[in-house]
Amino acid sequence: MSRSQKSDLIVIGGGITGLAIAYIAAKKGKKVTVIEASNSFGGLLNTFEVGGTQLERYYHHFFTHDAEINWMIRDLGIEDKLTYRKTKMGVYYQGKVYGFTTSKDLMSFTPFGWMDKLRFGLSGLYLGKKADWRKNESIPALSWFKKYAGNRVTEVIWEPLLNMKFGKHAHEVPLSWMIGRMKQRMGSRKNGDERLGYLNGSLKVLLDALLSELTKAGCELINNAPINELMIEDSEVKGIKAASNELHTEQVVFTFPSTYMKLLIEPHHQQLAKEVSRIKYFGAVCTVLELKQSITDTYWLNVADKNAPFGGIIEHTNLIGPEHYNGNHLAYLSKYFDEDEPIAKMSDEEIEAKMTAWLPNINPNFKPDWINKVHVFKTKTAATVCSLEFSRKVVNAKTPVKGLYIANMMHIYPDERSVNNSIRVAAEACQAMGIDSTFVPKGASLSGQIGFSK
Ligand SMILES: Cc1cc2nc3c(=O)[nH]c(=O)nc-3n(C[C@H](O)[C@H](O)[C@H](O)COP(=O)(O)OP(=O)(O)OC[C@H]3O[C@@H](n4cnc5c(N)ncnc54)[C@H](O)[C@@H]3O)c2cc1C
Repeated sequence: MSRSQKSDLIVIGGGITGLAIAYIAAKKGKKVTVIEASNSFGGLLNTFEVGGTQLERYYHHFFTHDAEINWMIRDLGIEDKLTYRKTKMGVYYQGKVYGFTTSKDLMSFTPFGWMDKLRFGLSGLYLGKKADWRKNESIPALSWFKKYAGNRVTEVIWEPLLNMKFGKHAHEVPLSWMIGRMKQRMGSRKNGDERLGYLNGSLKVLLDALLSELTKAGCELINNAPINELMIEDSEVKGIKAASNELHTEQVVFTFPSTYMKLLIEPHHQQLAKEVSRIKYFGAVCTVLELKQSITDTYWLNVADKNAPFGGIIEHTNLIGPEHYNGNHLAYLSKYFDEDEPIAKMSDEEIEAKMTAWLPNINPNFKPDWINKVHVFKTKTAATVCSLEFSRKVVNAKTPVKGLYIANMMHIYPDERSVNNSIRVAAEACQAMGIDSTFVPKGASLSGQIGFSK
């Protein structure tokens, strides 16, 4: 279908950042069009069916103090689906699974001596309560941990955690990112317990409600339409071309991964194209197992073993019970990777075989016939590589091209990328575009502070 019409705002990318921008702008009476490359809206929040219920392709939970997502859930009238549950964390180390949720767990954690326990506790408290992320951008987190938490604590806990999250980029991650993460985790703890949030029925409930509200507000949602041209005259945005659509506007916001922006921007502004190319991403694989039995009783298990083909096991049914999935126990085997690592080129079958073969190391009773079904999901753009002094690389949301804005995962730094923080970035992007978003409550998120200068 070919269209030629004018919107107040065109949002490119129909993931949560793009949809949240559209939602906020539509509430302010803007005529918005959302352009999505793939056949479905939601980006990394897309789901699939398990036992008659939808489940996220990539594990998702949120935190009690996540003000922005809690606001959106209430605003969409789906709070009856929201649930917060106590969870168990654990560490697999040298052939054994240890509980690692409460201070009691820490006290009985035998891989640490008493001095390690003290250093672990004090260094964590300092990062979560006292440290200023702005002053720690040039310090690699792992060097800091080695110095202040000690070699053993770093080797058993922090190095595996950063390896799990950043793969071979773990050594580049600044302490600032760790500060953002520690503040987030400590905020969701009460008396040592951590409660994590989930929407019964999956994030599809949120996406469906959002899309329905956007449609009611007259927002145009166009999928299967990767943007292929940005129309600019005299350094001002005039519109875009996407698939067979030619759409006119004076404001465009790019919310998709920066990796894909270079070719669109280069003909109009070489310097900006160079700046967006500096933002690198890494990928993630989630192998989702439908099982007859549980692997462990832990929700989140960090696997501290360099030989393991996954960095963590997130056993979803230890958060939301198997009764919601027709009795299936569900576990994500998660691995982050860089594009030059072998796993990036492996077929789904190879990934499945490699990962499931390792499970007896975690639970010696595990048998392949526990598995009912396997699903492998892979993305090349799971997160941005947050390197030292990353704030200098973050591209300003308001670009030098009049009417062109960029708001995506890079603006979440120094926080952990998340749905909540994407909504914060969306709110900041609306402000930058002159659309009032002050009605979106601002929580403890550190996102949206970098890259939004006037
Ligand atoms: C393994 C994993 C686990 C996670 N766990 C959690 C969690 O527990 N809790 C949490 O809150 N968050 C979690 N997240 C993070 C969360 O999913 C993301 O922060 C969020 O979904 C990012 O949304 P986005 O809209 O910025 O990007 P995306 O979801 O990547 O959306 C970008 C969209 O742009 C589209 N697009 C790309 N190119 C074009 C183009 N040329 N033209 C038009 N459209 C285009 C894409 O198809 C996509 O729909 C996790 C992510 C991963 C990968």
